[in-house]
Amino acid sequence: MGGMETDIKFIDENGLRIDGRKPDQLRPIKIEAGVLNNADGSAYVEMGKNKVLAAVYGPRECHPRHLQNPAKAIIQCKYNMMSFSVGDRKRPGPDRRSVEISKIIAEALDNVVFTENFPRASIDVYIEILQANAGTRCAGLTAAAVALADAGIPMKDLVPAIAVGKVADTVVLDLDKEEDNFGQADVPMAIVPRTGEIVLLQMDGHLTTEEFDQAMEIGMKACMEVYEIQKDALKRRYAVDAAIEEE
Ligand code: UDP
Repeated sequence: MGGMETDIKFIDENGLRIDGRKPDQLRPIKIEAGVLNNADGSAYVEMGKNKVLAAVYGPRECHPRHLQNPAKAIIQCKYNMMSFSVGDRKRPGPDRRSVEISKIIAEALDNVVFTENFPRASIDVYIEILQANAGTRCAGLTAAAVALADAGIPMKDLVPAIAVGKVADTVVLDLDKEEDNFGQADVPMAIVPRTGEIVLLQMDGHLTTEEFDQAMEIGMKACMEVYEIQKDALKRRYAVDAAIEEE
C-alpha cells in the first residue's frame, strides 16, 4: 500500500486487472454456514484466495468478570492469522494488526446484535485466517456475521464487508494482494443492508472526493452481492437441518 514503486501493470489495454477482472468485479465468493460441530455457530468463507473460518460461542458467562456489562452482552472478537496463511511464515500470536482488526470487527458486529437481551454475558467470536490474499478483515467480518446468525443469536441484520481502493489511478473493487500492497488506496467497508448504515470504514492511502464517492458506490453495490451470498448460505444450512428432521 501507499503507491510503492513497482513495474506491475495493474490495468491492461482492455481495462482489465492482473487477474482479468473488471475494475468493479468481485473475486469469486463461497460461503458455508455451520461447518463446525463444537461451536454454537460457525461459517467458512472463501473470497478469492482468502480462506477464513469463523466460530461463535455464547451468549455465555463473561470472563474475565470485570468486563461484564450489567446492561448488555459484550462481543469479544479474536482475529488470528495462521502461520501458514501467508507467503513468509507469520509469527504466531497476537500483534498490533490483529488487535486492531479484532477491535473493529467486534465494533461492527455490536451494531447488529441485540446485545441488550443478554446482560452480563459475552459473545465470543473467533476468526481464523487459513489463507490470506488481501481483504481478510472483510472476509473475516462477513464470516463472523454468518456464524452469529448460525448460532441463533438475535440480530437486526447480517453485515457484509468488502474492500474498495485505487490502482493505476483507477477505482477498483475487492483488491487482491498485489493491488493491496502496491496500489494507491485500500478502503475496507461494511454495511447493515437493511438500514444502509456503514459500520466499518477505514482508509489506507489517498482518494480524491470524487474517487471516494465512486468507491463508496461500487462498495455498497458489492456489499449487497455479498449479503445475498451470506443469506443463501444460511438458507442452505437451514434446509439441510429441516431435511434431517424430516427423516
Ligand atoms: N499480510 C501478510 N503478512 C502479515 C499481514 C498481512 O502477508 O503479517 C498480507 C495478507 O495477504 C493480507 C494482506 O497482506 O491479506 C493485506 O493486509 P492488510 O493489513 O491490508 O489487511 P487485509 O487486507 O487482509 O484486511
